[in-house]
Amino acid sequence: MKTLRLILGDQLNHNHSWYRETDDRVTYLMAEMRQETDYVTHHIQKVLGFFQSMRNFAAELEEKGHQVKYFRINDEDNTQQLESIISNTIEATEAECFEYQLPDEYRLDLQLKEITQNLEIKTATADTEHFLTSREELTEFFKGKKQLLMESFYRYMRKKHNILMDGKEPEGGKWNYDKSNRKKWKGEPEIPHERGFRKDLSGLLKEIEDAGVETIGTVDAGSFSWPTSRADALSVLNYFCKNLLVHFGDYQDAMHTKEKFLFHSRISFALNSKMIGPGETLEKVIGHYRKNGGEIELSQVEGFVRQVLGWREYMRGIYWKEMPSYANRNELDNKNPLPSFFWDADTRMSCLHHSIKQSLDDAYAHHIQRLMITGNYALLAQTDPAEVDQWYLGIYIDAIEWVELTNTRGMSQFADGGLLATKPYVSSANYINKMGNYCSECKYSHSKKTGENACPFNSLYWNFLHEKRPYFKDNQRMSLMLSLLDKIEPDELKAIRERAAKIIRNPGNF
Ligand code: FAD
Repeated sequence: MKTLRLILGDQLNHNHSWYRETDDRVTYLMAEMRQETDYVTHHIQKVLGFFQSMRNFAAELEEKGHQVKYFRINDEDNTQQLESIISNTIEATEAECFEYQLPDEYRLDLQLKEITQNLEIKTATADTEHFLTSREELTEFFKGKKQLLMESFYRYMRKKHNILMDGKEPEGGKWNYDKSNRKKWKGEPEIPHERGFRKDLSGLLKEIEDAGVETIGTVDAGSFSWPTSRADALSVLNYFCKNLLVHFGDYQDAMHTKEKFLFHSRISFALNSKMIGPGETLEKVIGHYRKNGGEIELSQVEGFVRQVLGWREYMRGIYWKEMPSYANRNELDNKNPLPSFFWDADTRMSCLHHSIKQSLDDAYAHHIQRLMITGNYALLAQTDPAEVDQWYLGIYIDAIEWVELTNTRGMSQFADGGLLATKPYVSSANYINKMGNYCSECKYSHSKKTGENACPFNSLYWNFLHEKRPYFKDNQRMSLMLSLLDKIEPDELKAIRERAAKIIRNPGNF
């Protein structure tokens, strides 16, 4: 039977069973579409990264003998919309069957269901064969439970996949080394040079510009540094194992003005586009640890396993459990606009300036910059989570809704009312100073709460606690913070609140 199989831009899984055999009756369909470039304003490196990876993937399929119909962004017959692209290609190939892999985004899931309902030919779906859990597995796991604790899901995953286990017990006797993973980086140990690429994507950049796609951020297209093929992706992973894993856990929460990547792997784009899978990633990392036993501590490896086997699969499960209502949740009723400095890094707050500038320059920030700098500020300034989401969904090369939304609205903005975080991730300047060197070169004082040069994080923090007290009053995990708030003298609290109001009203100039 003549079959048309759709491959979406984030479904670049070379190991998928679809490609095991070549078949003249099967055509694979891939398309660069305005529908996908325009649903949010993406970073230019993200558009380049996805398009180039898709082109490389299509070329590799063809080299293996598969038939591919590929629409480039400016092709004349590219209608830019999934529905007409599918129907036109069905007609052109005389396909009698249409198949697609289950999308990871709710938006595309809905659209493809609608499209296939209207098709007159046979249709079928396939799994992407990427994740270690099914869409529904987390929902099943937490059935009847009030709290969806990541830690219990993580332990279940460790046991189920027999990862870092010693029989029924965790290897080394502990499930979690989170507390030892909080070192500040002070110039040592040396951070190896980043594993980047130097690809010339200026031709593709011109095509994207000619198409009129609106983007954010900057790029040196003559020297594009993200992986865009499976070979690249594997080399990033190998580089991580050999050079960065040894200190990964220790410095996971560290921040530094001169070191953008520290010991982070930067494999999220390769993983989220599916050029590499989570299973093989864990195998490689653990394999490297086993081979180099003694040199690498278990805590470094466990820190990484927790992110990929725990957090990543957990976020995906939460997404499918809670969508579509999750995308509109705003439990704290936050309504302020996102400050304009999020789009140009033009702020005198050193931590925000560095984290945002880096995001605009590299389409990347590591987890603690996203959570404790930009996310923390947005939440303390009581920003509308819809605006926060748009920013995170656009700016990062790894941002796909299933993992962006859960991290942003859930973990970072507490907009789900604590479904996945038992307390909001908020901190004053104290924590920022503890984990990095941003404060040392900042015009604001991290130790002052009020006055012209007091760090805005401090007044915003106490103001947030004061204003949200009715919401958090019964939350046990907030009781210490609220009792500290009670100790602030009324006059000082008044001054804190006035300064916070001024900052929120005029974030660029206070
Ligand atoms: P490393 O620090 O080296 O970690 C290794 C891998 O673990 C990552 O590549 C990623 O696949 C996984 N991982 C780590 N933390 C998480 C997490 N919280 N959730 C899911 N997977 C995780 N990650 C995305 O992939 N896409 C997003 O759009 C995204 N948006 C975020 C928004 C906010 C507000 C926050 C706080 C976090 C977000 N994250 C997102 C999670 C995390 O910040 C990134 O996965 C990580 O920074 C990617 O860089 P890395 O590959 O160097 O990660």
